[in-house]
Amino acid sequence: MLKGKTALVTGSTSGIGLGVAECLAAQGANVVLNGFGDAEGPKAQVAAAGKAHGIRVGYHGADMSKPAEIEAMMAYAASEFGGVDILVNNAGIQHVANVEDFPVEKWDAIIAINLSSAFHTMRLAIPTMRAKNWGRVINIASAHGLVASAQKSAYVAAKHGIVGLTKATALETATTGVTVNAICPGWVLTPLVQKQIDARAAAGKLPVEEAKRQLLGEKQPSLQFTTPQQLGELAVFLCSAAGDNIKGVAWAVDGGWTAQ
Ligand code: NAD
Repeated sequence: MLKGKTALVTGSTSGIGLGVAECLAAQGANVVLNGFGDAEGPKAQVAAAGKAHGIRVGYHGADMSKPAEIEAMMAYAASEFGGVDILVNNAGIQHVANVEDFPVEKWDAIIAINLSSAFHTMRLAIPTMRAKNWGRVINIASAHGLVASAQKSAYVAAKHGIVGLTKATALETATTGVTVNAICPGWVLTPLVQKQIDARAAAGKLPVEEAKRQLLGEKQPSLQFTTPQQLGELAVFLCSAAGDNIKGVAWAVDGGWTAQ
């Protein structure tokens, strides 16, 4: 379905981004990966997912907190892949503390990586999407783009911000073949959440499995984690023709979290 298209997924060396990249590859899209840590393993995984289609997989290690590096990544995608047709803004970090204790540099980093990076990739990708009259921007927001939790001020501000950015740019591109939407996952068991589970287990002197049950029980009525693959399949759907008129939504995949 996506043969001939190129997807760029930020923060795709791990977790949700990697799962989304694999699903897009399985539909035939070429993929540009980004993120920290080992890139060779994720590149091989995504290439394997798209093997039947003979896709190409690239990688750029831009730090999403640095606009100049984002510009270099977008230039790489343009020169090596002819531009970005599907942009998935996924890179994100978390820090948990009351606002009065929140380290200033953590606030700045969360706003830069979880919100401003999407502004930069979008401002650079949308002109080519407009020229081709086809494009998909999928912003990985969060249930925290719709509701808040205590001790997550920067994260909640960034995620509400990216939902707003999604709506504004969806309106700006409404009459074109470009769609801009957000996906709002609840808990997904990735390294980002595992850290929070481990902290909870340490603080309460609990077994990790009990900490996991408590984490889900507080927020996610299904008591099940959402999987990266489920989010990837939703991204594939948004890229299909059925998604042509879906514009500016913030689509929860949260086991009922925001229905409460
Ligand atoms: P993760 O920690 O598994 O992956 C984060 C990815 O972002 C990694 O590839 C990492 O290298 C990359 N990254 C971090 N800082 C970066 C930077 N400065 N520049 C470039 N890449 C950077 O986390 P995840 O759980 O897969 O989270 C992915 C996205 O999904 C985040 O935006 C997160 O807020 C969102 N999200 C996660 C959950 C969850 O429960 N895990 C729920 C809702 C939303």
